[in-house]
Amino acid sequence: MYIVLLGAPGAGKGTQAGALTQELKLAHIASGDLFRQALGKGTELGLQAKAYMEKGQLVPNEITIKMVLERITSPDCAAGIILDGFPRNVEQAKALDEALKLQKKGIDYAVYIKVSEGELLKRLTGRWICRKCQAPFHEVSSPPKTKGKCDKCGGELYQRADDNTETIKKRLEVFFAETAPLIEYYSRTNKLMEVQGEGSMEDISARIISALRAKNQKK
Ligand code: AMP
Repeated sequence: MYIVLLGAPGAGKGTQAGALTQELKLAHIASGDLFRQALGKGTELGLQAKAYMEKGQLVPNEITIKMVLERITSPDCAAGIILDGFPRNVEQAKALDEALKLQKKGIDYAVYIKVSEGELLKRLTGRWICRKCQAPFHEVSSPPKTKGKCDKCGGELYQRADDNTETIKKRLEVFFAETAPLIEYYSRTNKLMEVQGEGSMEDISARIISALRAKNQKK
């Protein structure tokens, strides 16, 4: 199964991708994580992406598309993937469709996790992430048991450099201008599923899984 997760920054794409990956045994590919890993290693790709990420802008399509299309040809992706944060505009979506078509595959579903703008701002400003396993925490709504330490693996928690008020505003602007048109793009081919993204993490996962099962049965 090939699934695209759509949603604004802070909608919970990473969290839900983690849960779905386990449930459906698919590979999880997060374009933002690929860029952050490259940045951490100081590679050419990381250096190219850095300035855009710091400003909350999209990294140019030619760089992003090449990076993700290379990743999806890895053997661990053969049984299917959950794409989190890619595609983020129509040009990326078309490039992905073409690349999958060459492999005689295609996107089965695009799941849009819908969250109000006020809630997105609240979530992003208090977000802490584990350096080791990427598990997300929130200062107010889901604090870790020990400050600065991941409950799951004991890794160190950090705040993303782009989780500051100014960059968050820019990232939301970019989402509504460039990524939101993908809702229409996937709706036209009847691949879109819209899921309410507010509530407990478990409830949202259950909503996504039951919507996927219902849609899969109709196929
Ligand atoms: P994320 O972790 O998905 O919030 O992504 C963090 C940042 O990485 C974004 O604000 C962009 O600068 C960059 N990025 C991630 N995915 C993409 C993409 N598909 N296209 C362009 N830039 C991206």
